[in-house]
Amino acid sequence: MPLKSVDAGHTETLYVKRVVDVPYSYNAGKYVSRYLNELKEHKRIIGSKCSSCKKVFVPPRVSCSQCFQENEEFVQVSDAGSITAFTVTTVPYTDPNTGEPKKLPFTAAYIKLDGADTNIMHCINETDGKVLKTGLRVRAVFSENRTGDHFTDIKYFAVIRD
Ligand SMILES: [Zn+2]
Repeated sequence: MPLKSVDAGHTETLYVKRVVDVPYSYNAGKYVSRYLNELKEHKRIIGSKCSSCKKVFVPPRVSCSQCFQENEEFVQVSDAGSITAFTVTTVPYTDPNTGEPKKLPFTAAYIKLDGADTNIMHCINETDGKVLKTGLRVRAVFSENRTGDHFTDIKYFAVIRD
């Protein structure tokens, strides 16, 4: 007996709910391993510096994306910097670090730390659109229980209030 067309009679889309647990780890490499260790042990943020154009990459990168030279020098940058872009999220979002729903609203931002030439992405402790703006100064707040295996050893960035 032939089946009816897929459009015949059934219009509701059904959802199959599953919880998928996929734990994994990867080799962070020499440069990011050093970065994570500095966060954990010393609450220091480091970058790598290009020997040619002197750009500082945070987190440290092996080679310069501008002149393709090896970044052989590690340098400490400030734990303070300026927001260069941001978004306030108000829709449900699953935190990829925990697998749990993230508390709403939250602000994710690009931050250019003093002494760095690149941005890092992290959360900001401010969600008020009247306060948030590019150029706003922020400072890293380190986690009390740093593990050395994740960027969340910086808990978030706090707005520097005058
Ligand atoms: Zn360079």
